[in-house]
Amino acid sequence: MAGMITFTMIKPDAVRNGHTGKILDQIISNGFQIRAMKYVHLSEAKAGEFYAVHRERPFFKDLVEFMTSGPIVAAVLEKDNAVADFRTLIGATNPAEAAEGTIRNLYAKSIDANAIHGSDSDENAAIEASFFFSAFERF
Ligand code: ATP
Ligand code: MG
Repeated sequence: MAGMITFTMIKPDAVRNGHTGKILDQIISNGFQIRAMKYVHLSEAKAGEFYAVHRERPFFKDLVEFMTSGPIVAAVLEKDNAVADFRTLIGATNPAEAAEGTIRNLYAKSIDANAIHGSDSDENAAIEASFFFSAFERF
């Protein structure tokens, strides 16, 4: 059965460009409830740990640099079929390929600065939520 929880980060580009409010509004109006939220500036160590699965990829260094370039908004979201529905709402990783009206289509500039993160599985949603919020350790 698909889970009820996903994890998101509004990335530094979107926070810096003043899109936090509009993005949160779009998330809420698409049926997601915010269950936890924080505004933080990731350290290099924490960003590297979060994206450890990409450690061997050529873009890893740029990814960590970008994710530490300014504050982010991290949140746990609840909805039926949360992971898949949220991936649909944010659009493709590369904003050039993101469907019309998706968050990345509206607010992302490039594959690096792509405005928002969404978990890719129920298992990773639980891991990522517990990375930022101790109350979600058991999801
Ligand atoms: P996210 O995990 O941030 O929600 P995603 O699941 O759509 O994005 P991943 O494959 O997990 O994509 O990649 C993590 C991040 O690494 C992407 O959001 C993007 O910023 C960056 N990235 C992924 N692929 C590339 C690439 N080919 N070139 C540059 N950056 C990339
Ligand atoms: Mg991913």
